[in-house]
Amino acid sequence: MSKQKYTDAIKAEAKRLGFLSCGISKAEFLEEEAPRLEAWLKNNMNGEMRYMENHFDKRLDPTLLVEGSKSVVSLLLNYYPSEFQSEDAYKLSKYAYGTDYHFVIKDKLKSLLHFIQDEIGDVNGRAFVDSAPVLDKAWAAKSGLGWIGKHSNLLTQQVGSFYFIAELIIDLELEYDRPVTDHCGTCTACIDACPTEAITEPYIVDGSKCISYFTIELKENIPTEFKGQFNDWMFGCDICQDVCPWNRFSKSHDEPLFNPHPELLSMTKKDWEEITEDTFKKVFKKSPVKRTKFKGLARNIEFLKD
Ligand code: SF4
Ligand code: SF4
Repeated sequence: MSKQKYTDAIKAEAKRLGFLSCGISKAEFLEEEAPRLEAWLKNNMNGEMRYMENHFDKRLDPTLLVEGSKSVVSLLLNYYPSEFQSEDAYKLSKYAYGTDYHFVIKDKLKSLLHFIQDEIGDVNGRAFVDSAPVLDKAWAAKSGLGWIGKHSNLLTQQVGSFYFIAELIIDLELEYDRPVTDHCGTCTACIDACPTEAITEPYIVDGSKCISYFTIELKENIPTEFKGQFNDWMFGCDICQDVCPWNRFSKSHDEPLFNPHPELLSMTKKDWEEITEDTFKKVFKKSPVKRTKFKGLARNIEFLKD
């Protein structure tokens, strides 16, 4: 089989496995990203997310992560729901409605790698889902899956930005894709809507001011100066994506594992304020929300109360 045929076969299998799209780049040093990442870290925009400072070289060079690697295969998996939380509720980021994406995507990536090994031969590689030092947005953009918007998320004209990004890094040469054009234009909707002014300038998000960071990553108390600014977000924040005009084109996912526990959708603010550890365990069984543990979510809800 030729390089083109391998590439076509991998992309077709990715579609069959339910991925929204698949783009491929040569595994090489991410030259353009290096100064950006350095400046971001230097300005402490990672807050308490110290892990972002580790593996600086590996983050920028996939050949240091996977020996002999030739290609980075980027994949998108849609999580935009068909049903939403009650209007009168503290809000969860939509990606956290169902089963933890790490499990769902890892299984699909393993299937894709097995397919490559069965169909093509002795190919070595590793699967990455938001868990190792891989700059997934940069790879997805380099592979033509979308552009990185002013809110620093990847987005496309076709389906907006509500999807997960994952990668397979493999030692097989393939045909490589090209980046697409930025279609943010003169729009500043995300910057204007961010309640904590975390988007300090177009394309730069100060992670240490973002509601997602405060509600998920921060272990200490949330600084009181941000009181009243969270717009009822108790786990993550989708504001900058919700206001993005390209998300009018989001289509709901068809992955049953991403469907929420029915109780989650009907819970009101009062229910959330009275949530017990047993209900937390039931509603968030296998959910990414378990990351904050019951204590963390309770802290966030307390912070949101008037
Ligand atoms: S996720 Fe929320 S807080 Fe973070 S940059 Fe977007 S709008 Fe601002
Ligand atoms: S809201 Fe506007 S500026 Fe922000 S990412 Fe979307 S198109 Fe770009």
